[in-house]
Amino acid sequence: MLDGLFKPRSVAIIGASNNPLSIGHIVIQNLVDHNFRGPIYPINPKSNCIKSFKAYPSISDVPDEIDLVNISIKNTLVPIVLEECGKKGVKFAIVHTAGFKEVGEKGRELEKQIVEIAHKHGMRIYGPNSQGIQNSDPEVSVYANFTFVPQIPGNISIVAQSGGVGETFKLQLYNIGKGTRMYSSFGNEADVTMNEIIDYYGQDEDTKVIMTHIETLKDPAGFLEVASRVTKKKPILALKTGRTSEGVAAVASHTGSLIEQDTLADAIFEKSGVLRFHDQQEMIEAAIAFSDQPIPKSDKIVIVTNTGGPAIIAVDECISRGLQLAELSPDTGKALGELLFSEAIVSNPVDVIATAGAKEYGGTVELLLKDPNIDSLILNFVTPPFVDCEAVARKLGEIGSTADKPIVCIILTIEEKFGKVIRLIRESGVPVFDFPESASKALAAMIKYGQVLQREEPEYIKYDCDTAKAKDIIARHSGSGKFLPQADVFDLLGCYGIPIAKVVRVENKDEHKKAAQKLTYPLVLKVDSEDVVHKSDAGGVILDIEDESALLKAFDEMAGKFAQYKPAFIVQEQLTDGREVIIGSKASEGVAPMVMFGLGGVFVETLKDVQFRLAPLSRQDADNMITAIKGYPILKGTRGEKPADIDKLAEVLIRISQLAGDFPEIEEMDLNPVFAFEEGKGVAVVDARLKILGK
Ligand code: ADP
Ligand code: MG
Repeated sequence: MLDGLFKPRSVAIIGASNNPLSIGHIVIQNLVDHNFRGPIYPINPKSNCIKSFKAYPSISDVPDEIDLVNISIKNTLVPIVLEECGKKGVKFAIVHTAGFKEVGEKGRELEKQIVEIAHKHGMRIYGPNSQGIQNSDPEVSVYANFTFVPQIPGNISIVAQSGGVGETFKLQLYNIGKGTRMYSSFGNEADVTMNEIIDYYGQDEDTKVIMTHIETLKDPAGFLEVASRVTKKKPILALKTGRTSEGVAAVASHTGSLIEQDTLADAIFEKSGVLRFHDQQEMIEAAIAFSDQPIPKSDKIVIVTNTGGPAIIAVDECISRGLQLAELSPDTGKALGELLFSEAIVSNPVDVIATAGAKEYGGTVELLLKDPNIDSLILNFVTPPFVDCEAVARKLGEIGSTADKPIVCIILTIEEKFGKVIRLIRESGVPVFDFPESASKALAAMIKYGQVLQREEPEYIKYDCDTAKAKDIIARHSGSGKFLPQADVFDLLGCYGIPIAKVVRVENKDEHKKAAQKLTYPLVLKVDSEDVVHKSDAGGVILDIEDESALLKAFDEMAGKFAQYKPAFIVQEQLTDGREVIIGSKASEGVAPMVMFGLGGVFVETLKDVQFRLAPLSRQDADNMITAIKGYPILKGTRGEKPADIDKLAEVLIRISQLAGDFPEIEEMDLNPVFAFEEGKGVAVVDARLKILGK
């Protein structure tokens, strides 16, 4: 419960000062300027009075109860004052002071110490190295933060890891007259976490949309849990930065090298229904749209314009984001034909032409809002000097303020002359953008969230597996930090019902008969040694072995090449007529493993055409992963080709997710390739690598 933080009944400022350039001064100023509803207590041992408030030498001298303190004193003094705050019964301490975890080992120790002191007294630390919090709720009106953007009430709540980014969100909203509900930038997250704050915003009835800025997820599993709950009620927009940094160390196998921290964030966002943005402006504009507009019921949109070109740009942007141009119902078409000038275009986009006035433009929007084929509208309006533009804007504003379908608007004008046009529309709650691209992106984000709300309950299947045998295999390699022998990996896959190409492991050439008896030519011979990870690169795979003499020759060739590793070998039946795909898994710290799917061969190496999802995979997750890759048409079959066995592929993905989920000690798995045969004919793994976590 963060009420003491976001709805404090009283605030004390430790480090309060008469110096207008100090944080202790600015926080008091901000509290006063925004009419904080409770009492303010400056704490300063050297002054009796700060900014007309009676100052107290220490927190214990304050005669009242204190919910919240803002601390901006030297880092080494923080433990002492926190001890006093604890004794006083303070609930939350915002520590602005820097010089903790972010400066190294000494700071880390100090940070640990202050959290311990706080917890001893049942107090919570917000920060350290933090900006602060704000809440525009008129009952509280608290600005316990040292920043500069004035606070006006609104329904967007912001939580930002970086104060600079959070401030940018606030500023851009303020600049168009849009307010915020709650704000927080939480610094080092030593105690109060981002996840708790998101949860709190989720429960706040007056928060309609949540904006987050994330650099690293401190507790990914906690985020997944909280975000999954909150997105069922309201959208979470996330700007995750640091996506180009080297994430998880690239490892020897393909799966490893493709996965970075950022991919994990994507998988978490996907599973929890969080909308990710890569661009601050795009995210701010989406938040504005969410703030005032209802959520679209479907992806069927209509574009209305009084000038041609920008509408085409909107069409391109919308289609490329997966939206659909609605087909107008015949009744709408007929009514528009009667309403509009003969030069108008009565299809989607609807071009009402530049001479359209309030009657034509407004009437069009009214008709389209009633059309059951349409679920949202993009209006593009250029202000023609020969039209009463204010009348159009007034009409659109009237319609917009009561519409039950989302409307976004682009106004092409000169603000000096037509500022009122912009204001009339914006004040009605219809967001106004400068570019068709921006309006389309904002609407696309709303439509995506509509789809999150409509997601079916995931269907989780649990297959019966030989987990006892699997446990034995894993236990033999526990803590090794190494790749398992291939034969063990194949056995493990067998325990989980994952089909594999028929294979026999042999120690040397002398055992060739043992293998050949059990298998059918043509065969493949492969080296099996932990020293040879990429076998074919090293000449460790010989294909097309048609008979015994070829098999013996292949053994000789390999034995010579890999003598120094004293390798074992695997002999495998050679498969034909399959499409090669890759399936993998990767453990991630603090959250369930990820499962990967893509086309094999060059597709994975050069195009990185792969999809990741968090385990456990639902049936829908598995299906979505397969259809989401760009190479999906290859699996579906092009030019008369029969489709691959997609159903069986989905099953194998789920079985792999079950295996990876059951054994967190599997660091990574890489089945490359898996042959996917024609529909109904199944799939088979031909190569599998599996690495166990080191101690
Ligand atoms: P590595 O990935 O270590 O180089 P693989 O076992 O994947 O070794 O073999 C390399 C390639 O040889 C595979 O991508 C596949 O195209 C082909 N291949 C390997 N085993 C078989 C098999 N049993 N049937 C058909 N093709 C195979
Ligand atoms: Mg391979």
